[in-house]
Amino acid sequence: MPNSAPVFGRKPSRKPWDHGKRESRHARGYGTAWEKLRKVILQRDKHLCQPCKRAGRITVAQAVDHILAKANGGTDDPANLQAICTPCHNAKLAEDQGKRSRTRPTFGADGWPIEEGKNR
Ligand SMILES: [Zn+2]
Repeated sequence: MPNSAPVFGRKPSRKPWDHGKRESRHARGYGTAWEKLRKVILQRDKHLCQPCKRAGRITVAQAVDHILAKANGGTDDPANLQAICTPCHNAKLAEDQGKRSRTRPTFGADGWPIEEGKNR
């Protein structure tokens, strides 16, 4: 009974980091359902950044934003979603983070701080 020789020269078809990336994407809750929803919102908003539009600018949106952040109780309901451009999105995220760092942590009944934005 011959021992099966180890196979050399066969590389995995997929790079290990590809797999990891895909997993983290799902772990963050941005799966196929989100991709579909994203397209629906971009179409509804005609691929225009809504904050820019309100400010009188016409900018192509690259992303979809939660008007009320999920960390603050926002949902994936289309009414809570808007098309947004990258600069507006980044500004909004920075603002959200700034707000969060300025606010004092909330402590739960068990005495541990309640982490905001953990379920994003
Ligand atoms: Zn914008």
